[in-house]
Amino acid sequence: MGGPEIDRLVGLLAKLPGLGPRSARRAALKLLQQPDTRMLPLAQALVEAAKAVKHCHICGNLDAQDPCTICADPNRDRSLICVVEGVGDLWAIERAGAHRGLYHVLGGVLSPLGGIGPEDLNLGPLLTRLADGTVTEVILALGATVDGAATVHWLSERLAGAGVAVSRVAHGVPMGGALEVLDDGTLSTALRARRPA
Ligand code: ZN
Repeated sequence: MGGPEIDRLVGLLAKLPGLGPRSARRAALKLLQQPDTRMLPLAQALVEAAKAVKHCHICGNLDAQDPCTICADPNRDRSLICVVEGVGDLWAIERAGAHRGLYHVLGGVLSPLGGIGPEDLNLGPLLTRLADGTVTEVILALGATVDGAATVHWLSERLAGAGVAVSRVAHGVPMGGALEVLDDGTLSTALRARRPA
């Protein structure tokens, strides 16, 4: 094709989720044909996001400010923490407007096959957040996978002595389903119709 610069661009784009080599070539071509209106603004946005965006030290969300916009928002219900596997799940629940409380990003779920154990999850900071008695309920909003279910079970045991109610989302979530792929209505229903874990 057109030299190492283009090969490198296509190679990097092809590593993005949802883009294979074919879509990467199409995206690269689109960018190269509109350098001023598409490519340079994208490059600039990437650099700015890479510099500014970090994990919130309280909840693990990604934001340009720390504490993140959600943790810093005085209108959020501070008695309620929704525990999610990843930032993508947090974004999905926010998009659905399904939760008015705070979040905690676990950073994964227990996975014996994937080599993810309790020490790999962001649990300690959650226990710290529960210590001062402000939080009265923790909602476990993990995917309906085998690993997700095992993690809900493990977490509800770990949280049993923390003096908070622990609930889990109702799974109108299809078995094997990740939370972030649910449509807004299903997500809202799953959170509303939660039950004790
Ligand atoms: Zn936060």
